Amino acid sequence: MTQTVLSLSNVTKRFGGLIAVNAMDFDVAEHEVLGLLGPNGSGKSTTLNLISGALPLSGGHVSLWGNRISGLPAQTITRKGVSRTFQLVRLLPSMNVRDNVVAGAVFGHRRRWGREAIDHADMLLEKVGLGGKGDMPIGQLTYIDTKRVELARTLASDPKVLLLDEWLAGLNPTELQIGISLIRSLRDEGRTVILVEHVMDAIRSLCDRCVVMAAGAKIAQGTPTEVLSDREVIRAYLGDDD
Ligand code: ADP
Ligand code: MG
Repeated sequence: MTQTVLSLSNVTKRFGGLIAVNAMDFDVAEHEVLGLLGPNGSGKSTTLNLISGALPLSGGHVSLWGNRISGLPAQTITRKGVSRTFQLVRLLPSMNVRDNVVAGAVFGHRRRWGREAIDHADMLLEKVGLGGKGDMPIGQLTYIDTKRVELARTLASDPKVLLLDEWLAGLNPTELQIGISLIRSLRDEGRTVILVEHVMDAIRSLCDRCVVMAAGAKIAQGTPTEVLSDREVIRAYLGDDD
């Protein structure tokens, strides 16, 4: 019997007159990779912001292992085991690579300090393919490497639930295969992942189940094969309103 880890119930977000997220309902099971799909502007990043506590909800609630987390400060939600990457990478440019990763441990699910935090950061840098680059300034990294640092920073808090916002976007085919294997290894070590993604290869090979959004609302859910052949989903992506 798989357990529900994260549950969204009637989650709604309004920005003035715009309903960016409209009564979203879905559950994510332990060790599942759930794809959150939909065209640009459909409300995917906002949904992650509502789960992570970066934005207050206008309605509904989010639960983690049956306990309500919506309304809690973002740092408390991180400490409870939910952590995310951002669509636009957010790193501290004045710090080197390692210290950016160590900074991610501060509000962690399992906090580490001093030597232990540094060793853990170096282990995570190795894992994301940045072994030996800990002392580099952020400004000298390629775009892809900044994404790797961001993932390591997110992992430094030991998340049980990992929210990845288009983390694979912009990777070349070789990097993409490495990225897909990396995400699979995170699932295999027992994490639950919500994957906001457009890359079809990644969706097909990683997602156990997908939820598809359009204009803030859920329009389909099912396996990747089911949702990607759904007429309403195809119409939403093509922007055809007939
Ligand atoms: P997606 O990630 O699916 O591309 P977003 O969640 O970023 O979509 O955005 C959903 C809608 O909410 C868009 O119309 C966007 O312009 C709007 N939106 C997102 N964030 C804000 C904000 N902070 N203030 C006002 N509108 C926003
Ligand atoms: Mg987005």
